[in-house]
Amino acid sequence: MKLTRIMAGALVALALGLNVAPANASPDKPVIGFSIDDLRVERWTRDRDFFIEAAGKLGATVNVQSANASEERQASQIENLISKKVDAIVIVPFNSKALTNVIAEAKKAGIKVISYDRLILNADVDAYISFDNERVGYMQAEAVLKAKPTGNYYLLGGSPTDNNAKMLRAGQEKALQAAKDKGDIKIVGEQWVKEWSNTEALSIIENALTANKNNIDAIVASNDGTAGGAIQALAAQGLAGKVAISGQDCDLAGVKRIVDGTQTVTVYKPLKLIATEAAKLAVQLVRGETPSFNSKLDNGLKQVNSQLLTPIAVTKENVDLVIKDGFYTHEQVYGK
Ligand code: BGC
Repeated sequence: MKLTRIMAGALVALALGLNVAPANASPDKPVIGFSIDDLRVERWTRDRDFFIEAAGKLGATVNVQSANASEERQASQIENLISKKVDAIVIVPFNSKALTNVIAEAKKAGIKVISYDRLILNADVDAYISFDNERVGYMQAEAVLKAKPTGNYYLLGGSPTDNNAKMLRAGQEKALQAAKDKGDIKIVGEQWVKEWSNTEALSIIENALTANKNNIDAIVASNDGTAGGAIQALAAQGLAGKVAISGQDCDLAGVKRIVDGTQTVTVYKPLKLIATEAAKLAVQLVRGETPSFNSKLDNGLKQVNSQLLTPIAVTKENVDLVIKDGFYTHEQVYGK
C-alpha cells in the first residue's frame, strides 16, 4: 500500500517534470563525474588516472569528460553528468567564470561540486582543492631571479581564463618586486598565453626576442608546456640555456630540460596526492562526512572551503626527487 503510494507520487512528479530527489543517493558506491578542461595537456592524464585509482579504492566509479579547451563543451558535458544523476562532479574549469549556471543546476539536483586545481569563480562550489598557486608563482620567479639577478625580464602568463594564471602572476610579482624597485631587473614585456598553448608561447617569445633584439635575460614562464614553446624560440636564436626560464608540473620534457640545462626551474606538484585527496573529498561529501580543510578562498560568491597542498621547486640540484618520489623512473629521465 505504502509502496504504491510512493510509486504513484514518483509518477506524478515525473509527469509534472519536477526535480525528483537528489542524485543516485548511493553513498556506498558513489558515481563521480570528472570534468577536465583539457586532457591534451600531459599532467591532466595523470590526474585522471590517479583519481580513478583512488576513487576505486573508496568504492566509487568515475565518469571522465574532457572539454579540450571549450567552454561550451564543458558546460554541456557537465549538464550531461547532471542528467545521469552522478553523486558528485569534480571540475577542472576551462573558464573559471563561465560555470555559474551549470553549477547551480548541479546543486539543485543534489550533486556535490568540487573545484579541482583551478578555482571556479562566482559559483556555489562545495570545496576547492589545489596546490598553493601563489607559492608556485613565487618559486618560479625566485629561482629565475637567483639564476639572473639582473637584466631584462619577460613575463609569460598562463591562460587568461584560468584563475591560477592570476595567482601565479601575483606570486611572481611578489618575488620580483624588490629587484624591480632597485632597478636590478627590468620587465621588458608581458603577455598571457591563450589556452596555455605552447605554440602560442613560441610565437610570443619569437616576437619578444625580435622586439628586444634578443636582449632578454630571463623569462618567467608559468608552466612547462609554455616554457617548452618559449625554449624552442630561444633555441632558434642560439639562446637556449643562456636565458633563465621557469615552468611547473615536472612534465617529462620539462624535467629533461632541467637535466640538460635549458630550463632553470620547474615545480613539482605530486599529482597522486591531489588526485587521492580529491577523490577522498568527493566521497566524504557524498557520504555526508566532514572533510578537513586548511584554507578558505573567496570565489566572488562565497568563502570556499579549500585544501591547499604544498608545491616543491625543482632545479638541477634536486631534480632526482621526481625519481625518488616515483613520479618517473631513472630511465625515463636519463634514458638509461
Ligand atoms: C595548472 C597547471 C597546468 C596548467 C595548464 C594550470 O591551472 O595549475 O598545472 O600546467 O593549468 O593546463
